Amino acid sequence: MSQALSIKSRDAALETLRRVYGYDAFRGQQAGIIDHMIAGGDAMVLMPTGGGKSLCFQIPALVRPGVAVVVSPLIALMRDQVDALRQVGVNAAYLNSSLDWRDAVEIERQVERGELDLIYVAPERLVTPRFLDLLERSKVCLFALDEAHCVSQWGHDFRPEYLQLSILHERFPTIPRIALTATADAQTRADIQARLNLGDAKVFIDSFDRPNITYRVLPKQEAKRQLWAFIKTHHAEDAGIVYCLSRAKVDETATWLAAQGREVVPYHAGLDARTREANQDRFIKGEGVIVVATVAFGMGIDKPNVRFVAHLDLPKSMEAYYQETGRAGRDGLPADAWMAYGLSDVVAMRQMLESSEAPPEIKRIEKHKLEALIGFCETAACRRQVLLNYFGEVLPEPCGNCDTCLEPVETFDGSIAAQKALAAVYRTGQMFGTGHLIDVLRGTMTEKIEKFRHDQIKTFGVGADMSKQEWGSVYRQLVAAGYLTVDHEGYGALHLTKSAAPVLKGQQSVRLRRDNQAAVKKSLRAQRGSRSGSSAPAVLSQADDDLWHKLKACRLELARTQGVPPYVIFHDSTLLEMVRQKPRDPYRMGQLPGVGTSKLDRYGDAFLAVIRQTV
Ligand code: ADP
Ligand code: ZN
Repeated sequence: MSQALSIKSRDAALETLRRVYGYDAFRGQQAGIIDHMIAGGDAMVLMPTGGGKSLCFQIPALVRPGVAVVVSPLIALMRDQVDALRQVGVNAAYLNSSLDWRDAVEIERQVERGELDLIYVAPERLVTPRFLDLLERSKVCLFALDEAHCVSQWGHDFRPEYLQLSILHERFPTIPRIALTATADAQTRADIQARLNLGDAKVFIDSFDRPNITYRVLPKQEAKRQLWAFIKTHHAEDAGIVYCLSRAKVDETATWLAAQGREVVPYHAGLDARTREANQDRFIKGEGVIVVATVAFGMGIDKPNVRFVAHLDLPKSMEAYYQETGRAGRDGLPADAWMAYGLSDVVAMRQMLESSEAPPEIKRIEKHKLEALIGFCETAACRRQVLLNYFGEVLPEPCGNCDTCLEPVETFDGSIAAQKALAAVYRTGQMFGTGHLIDVLRGTMTEKIEKFRHDQIKTFGVGADMSKQEWGSVYRQLVAAGYLTVDHEGYGALHLTKSAAPVLKGQQSVRLRRDNQAAVKKSLRAQRGSRSGSSAPAVLSQADDDLWHKLKACRLELARTQGVPPYVIFHDSTLLEMVRQKPRDPYRMGQLPGVGTSKLDRYGDAFLAVIRQTV
């Protein structure tokens, strides 16, 4: 491409960004990717959730003549994107099994006649001879392969149909392709490139940091109470996701949260498809709904104003943790990733792994992944540094936006404490769980102590200087670090491992983190008036807060009449700009980020009226 042409296409791209989307400037690598696509190159884009991947193919689709064919794995995703595109006045449609054949044929005709800018299709439909023939007869400007990690068996959402997409390169070698994913691990990336024949594509890798997410992992004490205190303090009105391991726990937690007065929906594979869909719909189309779910929930959720993701149980791996927490704060406004973590989590996850039917080499990899996650939970260093480092990215300075940065954790030479804790296990015959062992250490007389005459052993009472919680923390860390294991029968008895011997003999030192007990206590009580991690800043005055709620109500009303999610009308960030700038006329309204010409026409007056009435 000549330089003059490149400048021209960049102008066209920027003009489209401003007119259609109402945004001022490209973010990160968007400009480079879009230039490359407009010039007809192939691209592979690795960008975190919320990084702005959609514009990377939508803008070239609008600038290049012809229709862009977008492959997307889920009906819900297609519907959302098409809804959003229509709102900004773009001719877009989808073809999938949710349409009856008459509508499908009509859309095929529109493709052939060149009336659409973008057509979203499911992979299985794209590779049918009928559809490929249709494409031969039509003018196609590019192929976008969204959620490209679905092609990889390593990934979390493998879709065999994606493997067939390599056919595009063979049938349409001159049409540029762009594959996009938010999957951060190297193995999946390599897989995508190989399987989709993208060896020659230009690779664009963005940082996988999600700076607007605050990471917190706290020692589990009374998980439900801690969760509620967190939600009440920071997210009294916000939408969020709570992840649990089992269906039973999902149901129980959802009922409990609902009893506290929140709108809550459960989601897991045990619910029938219709209930699941209805619950997901309520979450997406509502304001401030909480979904309590197993990992079955999340793929295809691009609700941008999920303000928190909470884990009541440990995820499977760092990849899973990154993926699940990544659903928070897509819109770039502050959001929280919160997790309560305890000894029982380590035990449950390790047992699940042991009892899995997977072949030994897979088990070994999974074990490794779980251990990395446990290390992340136990770290005294910046969580973001540990997280990014796992994905091969270096963050030079601690982030200042995670719990260990905000409330630094002390570490101490825990060799003596470890010796005592391990000795208690040894001298009681490796038959008891932490509750009893802590009683032994602290010299607490109980019936059980009497029955087994454990007041007679040498370790009885040697740990009276530390609290129950502190000993609980020591045991959790010793299990996490592999000095102890917990028996599989489920009685929770601790056993020494081989690596415990040198510690017991005082030949090896152990560093431990000092769990911040004051912070744990505080986590059990709701605090007043804090809105950190909430989209509405804590500093909103009463009047502005009032306006903010009225604007949200107006948005919800407009969304309901059209049957679309509220964020498709305007994002929270746009409403917040309305609160800050209080535009009084369409010109000023049109200057706000997220207000393009089409949305100004449709909704400008409604929101201007709210502002005029309120202010
Ligand atoms: P991804 O698909 O990478 O998760 P999206 O394409 O959904 O991300 O974009 C995330 C959010 O950022 C969307 O709300 C989008 O409108 C917004 N966005 C994308 N690019 C820009 C930009 N250049 N300026 C402002 N907002 C943007
Ligand atoms: Zn940090």
